[in-house]
Amino acid sequence: MEKVTKRASEGRKKGLSERFYYTRGKVSLRALFSGLVILTFVMTLTLTLFASYRSEQKLLEERTLSANFRESDRVAQAINLLFISIKNNLNAFSGEFVETTSLDASNKNVDRLKLLYDSGGYYAAVFAAQADGEISIMYQGSGEKTEREKVEAAALENALEARASFQSLPYTDPHGGVAVLLSEPVYTESGEYLGIVGGVLHLQTLNVLSNLFHENALEHTGSYSYVVDMNGKIVYHPDKERIGEDVGCNSAVAHLINGESGQEKILNSKDITFLAGYVTVSAAGWGVITQTPTSLISEQQMEQVRGTLLVVLVPFLILAASALFLARRLTAPFVYLANFVAGAADRPGEAMPSIRRHWNREADLLNQAVLRTVREMKQQHQDLNDVAFKDPLTGLLNRRALDEALDKLEREGSTFSLLLIDIDYFKSVNDTYGHAAGDEVLRMVAHTLEKTIDSMDFCGRYGGEEFVVLLPDRSIPETYEMAERLRMAVANHKNSLQIPITLSIGASICPLQAKRLGDLFDLADRALYRAKEGGRNRVVI
Ligand code: GH3
Ligand code: MG
Ligand code: MG
Repeated sequence: MEKVTKRASEGRKKGLSERFYYTRGKVSLRALFSGLVILTFVMTLTLTLFASYRSEQKLLEERTLSANFRESDRVAQAINLLFISIKNNLNAFSGEFVETTSLDASNKNVDRLKLLYDSGGYYAAVFAAQADGEISIMYQGSGEKTEREKVEAAALENALEARASFQSLPYTDPHGGVAVLLSEPVYTESGEYLGIVGGVLHLQTLNVLSNLFHENALEHTGSYSYVVDMNGKIVYHPDKERIGEDVGCNSAVAHLINGESGQEKILNSKDITFLAGYVTVSAAGWGVITQTPTSLISEQQMEQVRGTLLVVLVPFLILAASALFLARRLTAPFVYLANFVAGAADRPGEAMPSIRRHWNREADLLNQAVLRTVREMKQQHQDLNDVAFKDPLTGLLNRRALDEALDKLEREGSTFSLLLIDIDYFKSVNDTYGHAAGDEVLRMVAHTLEKTIDSMDFCGRYGGEEFVVLLPDRSIPETYEMAERLRMAVANHKNSLQIPITLSIGASICPLQAKRLGDLFDLADRALYRAKEGGRNRVVI
Protein backbone atom coordinates (compact mmCIF):
# COMPACT_ATOMS: atom_id res chain seq x y z
CA MET A 1 0.00 0.00 0.00
CA GLU A 2 2.74 2.36 0.97
CA LYS A 3 4.56 1.51 -2.21
CA VAL A 4 1.47 2.20 -4.28
CA THR A 5 1.25 5.66 -2.74
CA LYS A 6 4.96 6.23 -3.12
CA ARG A 7 5.07 5.29 -6.79
CA ALA A 8 2.03 7.33 -7.65
CA SER A 9 3.42 10.34 -5.84
CA GLU A 10 6.74 10.10 -7.68
CA GLY A 11 4.94 10.80 -10.93
CA ARG A 12 3.25 13.84 -9.44
CA LYS A 13 6.30 15.28 -7.76
CA LYS A 14 7.13 18.61 -9.35
CA GLY A 15 8.51 21.94 -8.19
CA LEU A 16 6.07 24.23 -6.41
CA SER A 17 6.61 26.94 -8.94
CA GLU A 18 5.35 24.70 -11.73
CA ARG A 19 2.01 24.20 -10.04
CA PHE A 20 -0.75 26.55 -10.95
CA TYR A 21 -3.69 27.00 -8.66
CA TYR A 22 -6.58 28.34 -10.65
CA THR A 23 -8.50 30.88 -8.60
CA ARG A 24 -11.12 32.48 -10.81
CA GLY A 25 -12.12 36.04 -9.93
CA LYS A 26 -9.29 36.49 -7.42
CA VAL A 27 -6.62 39.14 -7.76
CA SER A 28 -3.12 37.87 -7.15
CA LEU A 29 -0.94 39.68 -4.62
CA ARG A 30 1.69 40.20 -7.28
CA ALA A 31 -0.78 41.82 -9.70
CA LEU A 32 -2.20 43.94 -6.87
CA PHE A 33 1.22 45.21 -5.80
CA SER A 34 2.40 45.81 -9.34
CA GLY A 35 -0.84 47.61 -10.18
CA LEU A 36 -0.53 49.75 -7.08
CA VAL A 37 3.06 50.69 -7.88
CA ILE A 38 2.23 51.57 -11.49
CA LEU A 39 -0.85 53.55 -10.45
CA THR A 40 1.15 55.49 -7.85
CA PHE A 41 3.82 56.38 -10.36
CA VAL A 42 1.42 57.38 -13.11
CA MET A 43 -0.63 59.51 -10.67
CA THR A 44 2.47 61.19 -9.26
CA LEU A 45 3.82 61.95 -12.72
CA THR A 46 0.47 63.31 -13.89
CA LEU A 47 -0.03 65.46 -10.80
CA THR A 48 3.52 66.80 -11.00
CA LEU A 49 3.12 67.73 -14.65
CA PHE A 50 -0.35 69.20 -14.07
CA ALA A 51 0.83 71.30 -11.12
CA SER A 52 3.82 72.61 -13.04
CA TYR A 53 1.56 73.30 -16.05
CA ARG A 54 -0.89 75.31 -13.94
CA SER A 55 1.69 77.40 -12.09
CA GLU A 56 3.60 77.93 -15.32
CA GLN A 57 0.42 79.04 -17.07
CA LYS A 58 -0.30 81.83 -14.57
CA LEU A 59 3.28 83.01 -14.64
CA LEU A 60 3.50 82.91 -18.41
CA GLU A 61 0.24 84.85 -18.82
CA GLU A 62 1.35 87.53 -16.40
CA ARG A 63 4.73 87.82 -18.10
CA THR A 64 3.18 87.97 -21.56
CA LEU A 65 0.68 90.64 -20.49
CA SER A 66 3.34 92.89 -19.03
CA ALA A 67 5.72 92.28 -21.94
CA ASN A 68 2.93 93.23 -24.36
CA PHE A 69 2.17 96.34 -22.32
CA ARG A 70 5.83 97.37 -22.38
CA GLU A 71 6.02 96.77 -26.13
CA SER A 72 2.86 98.87 -26.75
CA ASP A 73 4.32 101.57 -24.55
CA ARG A 74 7.60 101.55 -26.48
CA VAL A 75 5.77 101.89 -29.81
CA ALA A 76 3.37 104.51 -28.42
CA GLN A 77 6.24 106.61 -27.07
CA ALA A 78 7.98 106.43 -30.41
CA ILE A 79 4.87 107.42 -32.37
CA ASN A 80 4.22 110.20 -29.87
CA LEU A 81 7.71 111.59 -30.35
CA LEU A 82 7.36 111.30 -34.11
CA PHE A 83 4.12 113.27 -34.14
CA ILE A 84 5.43 115.90 -31.74
CA SER A 85 8.47 116.38 -33.91
CA ILE A 86 6.40 116.52 -37.12
CA LYS A 87 4.01 119.04 -35.58
CA ASN A 88 6.83 121.19 -34.18
CA ASN A 89 8.52 121.11 -37.54
CA LEU A 90 5.32 122.15 -39.32
CA ASN A 91 4.67 124.84 -36.74
CA ALA A 92 8.16 126.24 -37.21
CA PHE A 93 7.70 126.36 -40.98
CA SER A 94 4.32 128.06 -40.79
CA GLY A 95 6.12 130.84 -38.92
CA GLU A 96 8.27 131.37 -42.03
CA PHE A 97 5.20 132.67 -43.89
CA VAL A 98 4.58 135.48 -41.42
CA GLU A 99 5.93 138.25 -43.68
CA THR A 100 4.02 137.05 -46.73
CA THR A 101 0.70 138.51 -47.79
CA SER A 102 -0.49 135.63 -49.92
CA LEU A 103 -0.09 131.84 -50.08
CA ASP A 104 0.25 132.02 -53.89
CA ALA A 105 2.68 129.92 -55.92
CA SER A 106 5.44 132.50 -55.72
CA ASN A 107 9.01 131.19 -56.01
CA LYS A 108 9.68 132.09 -52.44
CA ASN A 109 6.68 130.14 -51.22
CA VAL A 110 7.58 127.12 -53.37
CA ASP A 111 11.14 127.18 -52.01
CA ARG A 112 9.82 127.32 -48.47
CA LEU A 113 7.64 124.25 -49.10
CA LYS A 114 10.54 122.38 -50.71
CA LEU A 115 12.54 123.04 -47.58
CA LEU A 116 9.66 121.74 -45.43
CA TYR A 117 9.46 118.62 -47.58
CA ASP A 118 13.16 117.88 -47.31
CA SER A 119 13.50 118.78 -43.64
CA GLY A 120 11.75 115.79 -42.11
CA GLY A 121 11.61 113.12 -44.74
CA TYR A 122 8.21 112.01 -43.40
CA TYR A 123 5.89 113.56 -45.94
CA ALA A 124 4.40 112.01 -49.03
CA ALA A 125 3.54 115.56 -50.05
CA VAL A 126 3.47 119.10 -48.64
CA PHE A 127 1.08 121.81 -49.74
CA ALA A 128 -0.19 125.32 -49.18
CA ALA A 129 -3.94 125.97 -49.35
CA GLN A 130 -5.52 129.39 -49.40
CA ALA A 131 -8.36 130.35 -47.11
CA ASP A 132 -10.84 129.96 -49.99
CA GLY A 133 -9.96 126.24 -50.25
CA GLU A 134 -7.71 126.33 -53.29
CA ILE A 135 -4.43 124.39 -53.12
CA SER A 136 -1.93 126.88 -54.50
CA ILE A 137 1.25 124.79 -54.13
CA MET A 138 1.69 121.03 -53.96
CA TYR A 139 5.17 119.60 -53.70
CA GLN A 140 5.84 115.83 -53.81
CA GLY A 141 9.60 115.85 -54.11
CA SER A 142 11.82 116.19 -57.14
CA GLY A 143 11.67 112.47 -58.09
CA GLU A 144 9.17 111.13 -60.59
CA LYS A 145 5.62 111.02 -59.33
CA THR A 146 3.01 109.49 -61.60
CA GLU A 147 0.07 111.18 -60.01
CA ARG A 148 -0.50 114.37 -58.16
CA GLU A 149 -1.30 113.70 -54.49
CA LYS A 150 -4.99 114.07 -53.76
CA VAL A 151 -5.68 115.74 -50.49
CA GLU A 152 -9.02 114.51 -49.20
CA ALA A 153 -11.58 117.28 -49.61
CA ALA A 154 -13.20 116.79 -46.20
CA ALA A 155 -9.83 116.72 -44.43
CA LEU A 156 -8.79 119.89 -46.26
CA GLU A 157 -12.03 121.67 -45.44
CA ASN A 158 -11.74 120.74 -41.77
CA ALA A 159 -8.10 121.85 -41.70
CA LEU A 160 -8.98 125.25 -43.16
CA GLU A 161 -11.90 125.69 -40.83
CA ALA A 162 -9.84 124.77 -37.79
CA ARG A 163 -7.60 127.89 -38.16
CA ALA A 164 -5.28 126.14 -35.71
CA SER A 165 -2.91 123.15 -35.56
CA PHE A 166 -4.82 120.33 -37.17
CA GLN A 167 -4.56 116.57 -37.63
CA SER A 168 -7.13 114.78 -39.80
CA LEU A 169 -8.63 111.40 -39.16
CA PRO A 170 -6.86 108.74 -41.21
CA TYR A 171 -8.35 108.47 -44.73
CA THR A 172 -7.71 106.28 -47.74
CA ASP A 173 -5.00 107.71 -49.98
CA PRO A 174 -4.98 107.35 -53.84
CA HIS A 175 -2.82 104.21 -53.55
CA GLY A 176 -5.31 102.51 -51.29
CA GLY A 177 -3.23 103.11 -48.19
CA VAL A 178 -4.02 105.17 -45.14
CA ALA A 179 -3.04 108.81 -45.08
CA VAL A 180 -3.16 111.54 -42.45
CA LEU A 181 -3.18 115.22 -43.06
CA LEU A 182 -1.34 117.58 -40.66
CA SER A 183 -1.55 121.36 -41.01
CA GLU A 184 -0.72 124.68 -39.40
CA PRO A 185 -2.57 127.98 -40.04
CA VAL A 186 -0.78 130.91 -41.67
CA TYR A 187 -1.52 134.41 -40.47
CA THR A 188 -0.07 137.74 -41.63
CA GLU A 189 1.66 139.98 -39.18
CA SER A 190 -1.56 141.92 -38.91
CA GLY A 191 -3.41 138.75 -37.99
CA GLU A 192 -5.13 138.10 -41.31
CA TYR A 193 -5.85 134.39 -41.95
CA LEU A 194 -4.24 133.36 -45.26
CA GLY A 195 -4.82 129.64 -45.22
CA ILE A 196 -2.76 126.61 -44.17
CA VAL A 197 0.51 124.83 -44.84
CA GLY A 198 0.24 121.10 -44.44
CA GLY A 199 1.80 117.72 -45.04
CA VAL A 200 0.35 114.34 -45.97
CA LEU A 201 1.72 111.24 -44.23
CA HIS A 202 1.34 107.84 -45.89
CA LEU A 203 1.35 105.48 -42.94
CA GLN A 204 2.43 102.32 -44.82
CA THR A 205 5.40 103.99 -46.39
CA LEU A 206 6.41 105.86 -43.29
CA ASN A 207 9.76 104.23 -42.60
CA VAL A 208 9.85 105.30 -39.00
CA LEU A 209 6.62 103.41 -38.29
CA SER A 210 7.48 100.22 -40.13
CA ASN A 211 10.91 100.20 -38.49
CA LEU A 212 9.21 100.44 -35.14
CA PHE A 213 7.13 97.37 -35.83
CA HIS A 214 9.98 95.42 -37.30
CA GLU A 215 11.92 95.95 -34.13
CA ASN A 216 9.20 94.10 -32.22
CA ALA A 217 11.18 92.14 -29.69
CA LEU A 218 8.29 89.78 -29.04
CA GLU A 219 7.81 88.61 -32.63
CA HIS A 220 9.21 85.16 -31.85
CA THR A 221 6.49 84.59 -29.22
CA GLY A 222 3.76 85.11 -31.82
CA SER A 223 2.91 88.61 -30.53
CA TYR A 224 2.20 91.50 -32.86
CA SER A 225 1.35 95.16 -32.51
CA TYR A 226 -1.09 97.38 -34.40
CA VAL A 227 -2.35 100.94 -34.21
CA VAL A 228 -5.98 102.09 -34.07
CA ASP A 229 -7.48 105.55 -34.29
CA MET A 230 -10.10 106.91 -31.94
CA ASN A 231 -12.94 105.59 -34.12
CA GLY A 232 -11.71 102.05 -33.60
CA LYS A 233 -10.29 101.73 -37.12
CA ILE A 234 -6.96 100.03 -37.73
CA VAL A 235 -4.45 102.64 -38.87
CA TYR A 236 -1.42 100.43 -39.01
CA HIS A 237 -1.17 96.62 -38.93
CA PRO A 238 1.64 94.23 -39.90
CA ASP A 239 -0.97 92.49 -42.04
CA LYS A 240 -1.64 95.28 -44.59
CA GLU A 241 -4.98 93.71 -45.54
CA ARG A 242 -6.39 94.64 -42.18
CA ILE A 243 -5.66 98.38 -42.36
CA GLY A 244 -8.92 100.33 -42.29
CA GLU A 245 -10.81 97.47 -40.59
CA ASP A 246 -13.19 98.49 -37.80
CA VAL A 247 -12.19 96.77 -34.54
CA GLY A 248 -14.21 98.97 -32.20
CA CYS A 249 -15.84 95.88 -30.64
CA ASN A 250 -12.47 94.78 -29.24
CA SER A 251 -12.54 95.64 -25.54
CA ALA A 252 -8.90 96.84 -25.55
CA VAL A 253 -9.79 99.28 -28.35
CA ALA A 254 -12.81 100.43 -26.32
CA HIS A 255 -10.47 101.21 -23.43
CA LEU A 256 -8.17 103.16 -25.77
CA ILE A 257 -11.11 105.17 -27.10
CA ASN A 258 -11.83 106.09 -23.48
CA GLY A 259 -8.22 107.24 -23.18
CA GLU A 260 -7.15 104.36 -20.95
CA SER A 261 -3.96 102.31 -21.16
CA GLY A 262 -3.63 98.86 -19.58
CA GLN A 263 -3.42 95.12 -20.08
CA GLU A 264 -6.00 92.31 -20.14
CA LYS A 265 -7.16 89.03 -21.57
CA ILE A 266 -9.51 89.80 -24.46
CA LEU A 267 -11.77 87.93 -26.85
CA ASN A 268 -11.50 89.27 -30.41
CA SER A 269 -14.16 89.37 -33.12
CA LYS A 270 -13.10 85.89 -34.34
CA ASP A 271 -13.60 84.40 -30.86
CA ILE A 272 -9.87 84.03 -30.29
CA THR A 273 -8.52 84.92 -26.84
CA PHE A 274 -5.54 87.21 -26.68
CA LEU A 275 -3.33 88.61 -23.98
CA ALA A 276 -3.21 92.30 -24.85
CA GLY A 277 -1.27 95.34 -23.63
CA TYR A 278 -2.56 98.72 -24.91
CA VAL A 279 -1.27 102.28 -24.60
CA THR A 280 -2.67 105.57 -25.93
CA VAL A 281 -0.61 107.82 -28.21
CA SER A 282 -1.63 111.30 -27.08
CA ALA A 283 0.13 113.33 -29.79
CA ALA A 284 -1.53 111.33 -32.59
CA GLY A 285 -4.81 110.59 -30.80
CA TRP A 286 -4.27 106.92 -31.49
CA GLY A 287 -3.66 103.76 -29.50
CA VAL A 288 -1.20 100.91 -29.80
CA ILE A 289 -2.16 97.32 -29.02
CA THR A 290 0.28 94.45 -28.69
CA GLN A 291 -1.32 91.04 -28.35
CA THR A 292 -0.50 87.34 -28.19
CA PRO A 293 -3.01 84.55 -28.89
CA THR A 294 -3.38 82.37 -25.75
CA SER A 295 -3.22 79.28 -27.97
CA LEU A 296 0.43 80.13 -28.61
CA ILE A 297 1.04 80.28 -24.88
CA SER A 298 -0.62 76.90 -24.44
CA GLU A 299 1.63 75.56 -27.20
CA GLN A 300 4.69 76.93 -25.46
CA GLN A 301 3.49 75.36 -22.25
CA MET A 302 2.88 72.00 -23.87
CA GLU A 303 6.38 72.26 -25.28
CA GLN A 304 7.62 72.92 -21.77
CA VAL A 305 5.63 69.99 -20.36
CA ARG A 306 7.06 67.73 -23.07
CA GLY A 307 10.53 68.97 -22.13
CA THR A 308 9.90 68.29 -18.46
CA LEU A 309 8.49 64.89 -19.31
CA LEU A 310 11.59 64.01 -21.33
CA VAL A 311 13.84 65.01 -18.45
CA VAL A 312 11.92 63.20 -15.71
CA LEU A 313 10.74 60.19 -17.70
CA VAL A 314 13.96 58.17 -17.66
CA PRO A 315 14.63 58.52 -13.90
CA PHE A 316 10.91 57.95 -13.32
CA LEU A 317 10.92 54.76 -15.36
CA ILE A 318 14.04 53.53 -13.57
CA LEU A 319 12.39 54.27 -10.23
CA ALA A 320 9.16 52.57 -11.28
CA ALA A 321 11.07 49.51 -12.52
CA SER A 322 12.98 49.32 -9.23
CA ALA A 323 9.74 49.66 -7.27
CA LEU A 324 8.13 46.95 -9.39
CA PHE A 325 11.13 44.71 -8.87
CA LEU A 326 11.02 45.31 -5.12
CA ALA A 327 7.26 44.71 -5.05
CA ARG A 328 7.78 41.38 -6.81
CA ARG A 329 10.57 40.45 -4.42
CA LEU A 330 8.39 41.34 -1.43
CA THR A 331 5.38 39.42 -2.66
CA ALA A 332 7.42 36.41 -3.83
CA PRO A 333 7.53 34.67 -0.41
CA PHE A 334 3.79 35.08 0.06
CA VAL A 335 3.06 33.78 -3.44
CA TYR A 336 5.38 30.84 -2.76
CA LEU A 337 3.83 30.29 0.66
CA ALA A 338 0.29 30.38 -0.71
CA ASN A 339 1.20 27.75 -3.32
CA PHE A 340 3.06 25.75 -0.69
CA VAL A 341 0.12 25.67 1.72
CA ALA A 342 -2.35 24.92 -1.08
CA GLY A 343 -0.08 22.04 -2.21
CA ALA A 344 0.29 20.72 1.33
CA ALA A 345 -3.47 20.75 1.81
CA ASP A 346 -4.09 19.11 -1.59
CA ARG A 347 -1.59 16.28 -1.08
CA PRO A 348 -1.15 15.63 2.62
CA GLY A 349 0.70 12.36 1.94
CA GLU A 350 3.23 13.91 -0.36
CA ALA A 351 6.65 15.09 0.75
CA MET A 352 6.94 18.88 0.33
CA PRO A 353 10.07 20.77 -0.66
CA SER A 354 11.54 22.75 2.20
CA ILE A 355 10.89 26.51 2.44
CA ARG A 356 13.82 28.83 1.92
CA ARG A 357 14.85 31.46 4.46
CA HIS A 358 13.81 34.97 3.47
CA TRP A 359 15.52 38.32 4.01
CA ASN A 360 12.28 40.01 4.98
CA ARG A 361 11.63 39.46 8.72
CA GLU A 362 7.86 38.95 8.53
CA ALA A 363 8.10 36.74 5.45
CA ASP A 364 10.78 34.66 7.16
CA LEU A 365 8.76 34.27 10.38
CA LEU A 366 5.71 33.28 8.39
CA ASN A 367 7.75 30.81 6.31
CA GLN A 368 9.15 29.09 9.36
CA ALA A 369 5.80 29.01 11.17
CA VAL A 370 4.06 27.55 8.14
CA LEU A 371 6.85 25.03 7.64
CA ARG A 372 6.56 23.86 11.27
CA THR A 373 2.78 23.56 11.00
CA VAL A 374 2.94 21.66 7.73
CA ARG A 375 5.59 19.30 9.14
CA GLU A 376 3.44 18.57 12.19
CA MET A 377 0.43 18.06 9.98
CA LYS A 378 2.36 15.61 7.83
CA GLN A 379 3.67 13.74 10.85
CA GLN A 380 0.13 13.40 12.18
CA HIS A 381 -0.97 12.21 8.78
CA GLN A 382 1.85 9.67 8.73
CA ASP A 383 1.01 8.48 12.23
CA LEU A 384 -2.64 8.02 11.35
CA ASN A 385 -1.64 6.18 8.22
CA ASP A 386 0.59 3.87 10.22
CA VAL A 387 -2.14 3.16 12.75
CA ALA A 388 -4.61 2.42 9.98
CA PHE A 389 -2.44 0.35 7.66
CA LYS A 390 0.57 -1.03 9.59
CA ASP A 391 0.92 -4.00 11.90
CA PRO A 392 2.42 -2.57 15.08
CA LEU A 393 4.41 -5.71 15.98
CA THR A 394 6.20 -6.37 12.67
CA GLY A 395 5.85 -3.08 10.83
CA LEU A 396 4.39 -4.94 7.83
CA LEU A 397 1.11 -3.98 6.14
CA ASN A 398 -1.85 -5.09 8.25
CA ARG A 399 -4.88 -7.04 7.12
CA ARG A 400 -6.82 -3.90 6.18
CA ALA A 401 -4.00 -2.64 3.95
CA LEU A 402 -3.64 -6.08 2.37
CA ASP A 403 -7.39 -6.23 1.70
CA GLU A 404 -7.27 -2.81 0.02
CA ALA A 405 -4.30 -3.81 -2.13
CA LEU A 406 -6.07 -7.06 -3.08
CA ASP A 407 -9.29 -5.19 -3.94
CA LYS A 408 -7.30 -2.84 -6.16
CA LEU A 409 -5.53 -5.70 -7.95
CA GLU A 410 -8.88 -7.47 -8.47
CA ARG A 411 -10.55 -4.25 -9.70
CA GLU A 412 -7.79 -3.61 -12.20
CA GLY A 413 -7.91 -7.25 -13.38
CA SER A 414 -4.17 -7.62 -12.67
CA THR A 415 -2.23 -10.84 -12.88
CA PHE A 416 -0.79 -11.76 -9.48
CA SER A 417 0.02 -14.70 -7.20
CA LEU A 418 -1.26 -15.06 -3.62
CA LEU A 419 0.99 -16.79 -1.03
CA LEU A 420 -0.55 -17.81 2.32
CA ILE A 421 2.31 -18.37 4.77
CA ASP A 422 1.96 -20.05 8.18
CA ILE A 423 4.75 -20.65 10.73
CA ASP A 424 5.07 -24.33 11.63
CA TYR A 425 4.47 -25.34 15.22
CA PHE A 426 4.43 -21.80 16.39
CA LYS A 427 2.29 -22.59 19.37
CA SER A 428 5.14 -24.71 20.78
CA VAL A 429 7.50 -21.70 20.46
CA ASN A 430 5.16 -19.72 22.64
CA ASP A 431 4.71 -22.61 24.99
CA THR A 432 8.42 -23.40 25.28
CA TYR A 433 10.09 -19.97 25.21
CA GLY A 434 7.32 -17.64 26.17
CA HIS A 435 5.13 -15.11 24.35
CA ALA A 436 7.94 -12.52 24.04
CA ALA A 437 10.15 -15.03 22.24
CA GLY A 438 7.15 -15.80 20.00
CA ASP A 439 6.87 -12.10 19.18
CA GLU A 440 10.58 -11.97 18.43
CA VAL A 441 10.18 -14.89 16.01
CA LEU A 442 7.27 -13.11 14.33
CA ARG A 443 9.43 -10.00 13.85
CA MET A 444 12.32 -12.10 12.50
CA VAL A 445 10.07 -13.87 9.98
CA ALA A 446 8.51 -10.56 8.91
CA HIS A 447 11.92 -9.00 8.42
CA THR A 448 13.21 -11.96 6.41
CA LEU A 449 10.13 -12.03 4.19
CA GLU A 450 10.34 -8.30 3.51
CA LYS A 451 14.01 -8.54 2.67
CA THR A 452 13.50 -11.43 0.24
CA ILE A 453 10.55 -10.20 -1.87
CA ASP A 454 11.09 -7.97 -4.95
CA SER A 455 10.43 -4.25 -4.92
CA MET A 456 7.08 -4.60 -6.72
CA ASP A 457 5.78 -7.29 -4.32
CA PHE A 458 3.70 -6.76 -1.17
CA CYS A 459 4.12 -8.47 2.15
CA GLY A 460 1.76 -8.25 5.16
CA ARG A 461 0.74 -9.95 8.41
CA TYR A 462 -2.71 -11.41 7.88
CA GLY A 463 -3.28 -12.45 11.52
CA GLY A 464 -1.57 -14.47 14.31
CA GLU A 465 1.43 -16.19 12.78
CA GLU A 466 0.04 -16.05 9.25
CA PHE A 467 1.48 -13.85 6.51
CA VAL A 468 0.32 -12.98 2.99
CA VAL A 469 2.64 -12.17 0.08
CA LEU A 470 1.30 -10.77 -3.22
CA LEU A 471 3.45 -11.25 -6.31
CA PRO A 472 2.32 -9.24 -9.38
CA ASP A 473 2.88 -10.68 -12.90
CA ARG A 474 4.29 -14.15 -12.00
CA SER A 475 3.92 -17.46 -13.83
CA ILE A 476 3.47 -20.74 -11.91
CA PRO A 477 7.22 -21.55 -11.90
CA GLU A 478 8.11 -17.97 -10.92
CA THR A 479 5.56 -18.10 -8.10
CA TYR A 480 6.93 -21.40 -6.92
CA GLU A 481 10.48 -20.15 -7.11
CA MET A 482 9.73 -17.04 -5.03
CA ALA A 483 7.76 -19.10 -2.44
CA GLU A 484 10.73 -21.48 -2.16
CA ARG A 485 13.12 -18.55 -1.71
CA LEU A 486 11.00 -17.26 1.13
CA ARG A 487 10.75 -20.66 2.79
CA MET A 488 14.54 -21.23 2.49
CA ALA A 489 15.38 -17.73 3.72
CA VAL A 490 13.44 -18.28 6.95
CA ALA A 491 14.64 -21.83 7.39
CA ASN A 492 18.27 -20.81 6.96
CA HIS A 493 18.02 -17.76 9.17
CA LYS A 494 19.94 -18.19 12.41
CA ASN A 495 17.79 -16.50 15.05
CA SER A 496 19.09 -15.38 18.45
CA LEU A 497 17.08 -18.06 20.25
CA GLN A 498 18.60 -20.84 18.15
CA ILE A 499 15.08 -22.18 17.46
CA PRO A 500 14.58 -23.86 14.09
CA ILE A 501 11.73 -21.97 12.34
CA THR A 502 10.09 -23.20 9.18
CA LEU A 503 7.19 -22.06 7.01
CA SER A 504 4.43 -23.83 5.16
CA ILE A 505 3.26 -21.92 2.05
CA GLY A 506 0.11 -22.39 -0.01
CA ALA A 507 -0.14 -20.48 -3.31
CA SER A 508 -2.79 -19.63 -5.90
CA ILE A 509 -2.55 -17.58 -9.11
CA CYS A 510 -5.01 -14.99 -10.44
CA PRO A 511 -6.56 -15.14 -13.02
CA LEU A 512 -4.98 -18.46 -14.04
CA GLN A 513 -6.62 -20.49 -11.22
CA ALA A 514 -9.37 -18.17 -10.05
CA LYS A 515 -10.55 -14.62 -10.65
CA ARG A 516 -12.45 -13.88 -7.47
CA LEU A 517 -10.57 -13.18 -4.26
CA GLY A 518 -12.67 -15.61 -2.22
CA ASP A 519 -11.85 -18.47 -4.60
CA LEU A 520 -8.15 -17.50 -4.65
CA PHE A 521 -8.02 -17.61 -0.83
CA ASP A 522 -9.81 -20.96 -0.80
CA LEU A 523 -7.29 -22.41 -3.24
CA ALA A 524 -4.29 -20.98 -1.33
CA ASP A 525 -5.78 -22.18 1.96
CA ARG A 526 -6.24 -25.69 0.62
CA ALA A 527 -2.68 -25.70 -0.75
CA LEU A 528 -1.43 -24.56 2.69
CA TYR A 529 -3.39 -27.35 4.33
CA ARG A 530 -1.80 -29.82 1.96
CA ALA A 531 1.63 -28.41 2.80
CA LYS A 532 0.97 -28.94 6.50
CA GLU A 533 -0.42 -32.40 5.79
CA GLY A 534 2.56 -33.21 3.64
CA GLY A 535 4.92 -32.68 6.56
CA ARG A 536 5.26 -28.85 6.76
CA ASN A 537 8.28 -26.70 5.70
CA ARG A 538 7.19 -26.84 2.06
CA VAL A 539 5.42 -25.00 -0.76
CA VAL A 540 2.26 -26.21 -2.45
CA ILE A 541 0.52 -24.52 -5.40
P1 GH3 B 1 0.85 -25.54 12.81
O1 GH3 B 1 2.15 -25.99 12.37
O2 GH3 B 1 -0.26 -26.51 12.55
O3 GH3 B 1 0.51 -24.23 12.27
O4 GH3 B 1 0.94 -25.43 14.35
P2 GH3 B 1 0.86 -24.19 15.22
O5 GH3 B 1 1.42 -24.35 16.53
O6 GH3 B 1 1.44 -23.02 14.49
O7 GH3 B 1 -0.72 -24.03 15.38
P3 GH3 B 1 -1.66 -22.84 15.60
O8 GH3 B 1 -1.95 -22.16 14.30
O9 GH3 B 1 -2.91 -23.37 16.28
O10 GH3 B 1 -0.97 -21.86 16.58
C1 GH3 B 1 -0.96 -20.51 16.42
C2 GH3 B 1 -0.46 -19.89 17.65
O11 GH3 B 1 0.08 -18.60 17.42
C3 GH3 B 1 -1.57 -19.67 18.64
C4 GH3 B 1 -1.25 -18.35 19.32
O12 GH3 B 1 -0.99 -18.44 20.69
C5 GH3 B 1 -0.02 -17.89 18.62
N1 GH3 B 1 -0.08 -16.52 18.39
C6 GH3 B 1 -1.02 -15.89 17.65
N2 GH3 B 1 -0.74 -14.55 17.62
C7 GH3 B 1 0.40 -14.35 18.36
C8 GH3 B 1 1.18 -13.25 18.70
O13 GH3 B 1 0.88 -12.10 18.32
N3 GH3 B 1 2.26 -13.43 19.48
C9 GH3 B 1 2.67 -14.62 19.92
N4 GH3 B 1 3.74 -14.72 20.62
N5 GH3 B 1 1.93 -15.70 19.62
C10 GH3 B 1 0.83 -15.60 18.85
MG1 MG C 1 -1.92 -20.77 12.12
MG1 MG D 1 1.12 -22.36 12.59
